[in-house]
Amino acid sequence: MLSFWEKQSFVEYDYVIIGGGITGLSTAISIKENAPKARVVVLERGIFPSGASTKNAGFACFGSITELLNDLNTLGPEETKELVTERWEGLKKLRNRLGEKEIGYKAQNGYELIREAEEYALGKIDEVNDLLMPLFYQEVFTDKPKLRKNFGFSKDHVLTVVENSFEGQIDTGKMMRRLIGYACELGVLLLTGAEVQSLEEHAGHVEVIVKNTPTKDDVRIKADKVALCTNAFSKKFLPDIEVAPGRGLVLVTKPFKNLKFKGVFHYDEGYYYFRDYKDRVIFGGGRNLDPDTEASTEFEVNQRIFDLLKRQLEVMIMPGHEIHIEHSWVGIMGFGSTKKPVIQKVSDRIFAGIRLGGMGVAIGSRIGERLMKMMIKPKV
Ligand SMILES: Cc1cc2nc3c(=O)[nH]c(=O)nc-3n(C[C@H](O)[C@H](O)[C@H](O)COP(=O)(O)OP(=O)(O)OC[C@H]3O[C@@H](n4cnc5c(N)ncnc54)[C@H](O)[C@@H]3O)c2cc1C
Repeated sequence: MLSFWEKQSFVEYDYVIIGGGITGLSTAISIKENAPKARVVVLERGIFPSGASTKNAGFACFGSITELLNDLNTLGPEETKELVTERWEGLKKLRNRLGEKEIGYKAQNGYELIREAEEYALGKIDEVNDLLMPLFYQEVFTDKPKLRKNFGFSKDHVLTVVENSFEGQIDTGKMMRRLIGYACELGVLLLTGAEVQSLEEHAGHVEVIVKNTPTKDDVRIKADKVALCTNAFSKKFLPDIEVAPGRGLVLVTKPFKNLKFKGVFHYDEGYYYFRDYKDRVIFGGGRNLDPDTEASTEFEVNQRIFDLLKRQLEVMIMPGHEIHIEHSWVGIMGFGSTKKPVIQKVSDRIFAGIRLGGMGVAIGSRIGERLMKMMIKPKV
C-alpha cells in the first residue's frame, strides 16, 4: 500500500540502476554527468553495498608481472595491453573524479614477491616493459633484489621483489563513501535495503519489482531504462549469462611495532595480495586453494584458507613475528572464463555491466561510462 506522496515522488524514474557497488554508482554518476535532469535511482539490496566493492583490500593496481605474463600466454599481446589500458584509465578516472585525498590514495608502489616458482618471470620483464611503453612512457617493472631484506621477507621463500612504480593503495571505505556522496550531490537517489525481485518488460517501460519488508507488499518501480550492475549476483536476472561467484577472503592483523614495508604486494599471479594499513597488514586471497567451495555467494569464511593465509604470513611475509588476526571477512566477485567484463544490451530497455572479476576497483568507473553511453538518449 503506497501513499499518494510515495506514488508521486518515489516510483517513477528515467534510469533505474540495480546494485549499489562501484559499477552501479559509477553508471548513475555518468548518467547524471551527461543528463543532469534525468531521474536516476540506485536500488541496493543491502544497508550498504553488499558484494565486493566495500569488501576488497583497497588496491589500485593493474596486474603484477606474473599475472601479465599469464595474460600474455592466454590472450596475446594486444588483448593484454588493452586490459592494462582499461585498468589504468579506470584508476585515473576514479582518482580524478573523487579526489586522491578523499579516497585515501597513496602512490606507494606495487610489488611482486618472486619465489622459485616465479623465477622465470625475471627474464621476461623487458618484454612486458616494452609492451607497456606506449602507455606509461617509462619502464613499469624493475627487479629490486635488495628490497627482500629491507622489507623483511623470508630469504628461504622469496628470491627477489619486482617493483611497479605506478600502483598504489586506496582506503576502500572512504572511496565508497565518497562515491555515494558524489552520486547524491549530482542528484542520484540511492535506496538501500531495496532488493529487486524481478523485472517485467512492457511496451513503453520496465517494471522493477522490489521487496519491501515493512509493508510486505512488493513495490513496483517504473523505469524507462534499467541497468543491471549486480556482478556475481546476476544469474537471477540473466540465467543464461556466464558468470560464477568467487569469494575473496581478507584478514587484518593487529598493529606491528616496526612494520618494514609500505605499498601493495602480490604473488602467485595475483592470487595472494597484501598491503600495509597504518601499522597493520591486510592480507587476502587464496581462492585457488579451495576453488569449488569458494565459488559461492555465501558470506562465510573458509577456515582452511584462513589458516593457510595466516601460515604464509608467519613463514614468508612476517617471519619472526607473532601473527594475531583481528578482522576477517569475505567479498564476492563475479568471474567468467575470460577476464573481459560483460557490458551488454539485454533488450531495448535493459542493460548489464557485470562480471568484473578481481579488477572492478580499476575498471568499474569505465564500465559505468560505457553503460551510460549505451543507455542514454543522444543529445539533440
Ligand atoms: C577480496 C577482494 C579483493 C579484490 N581486489 C581487487 C583489486 O586488487 N583490484 C581491483 O580492481 N578489484 C579488486 N577486487 C574486485 C572489486 O572489488 C570488484 O570487481 C568490484 O567491487 C565490483 O563492483 P560491482 O559494483 O560490479 O559489484 P559489487 O560490488 O558486487 O556490487 C553489486 C551490488 O549489487 C547488489 N545486488 C545484488 N543483487 C541485488 C538485487 N537483487 N537487488 C538490489 N541489489 C542487488 C549487491 O548487494 C552489491 O552491492 C577485489 C574484490 C575482493 C572481494
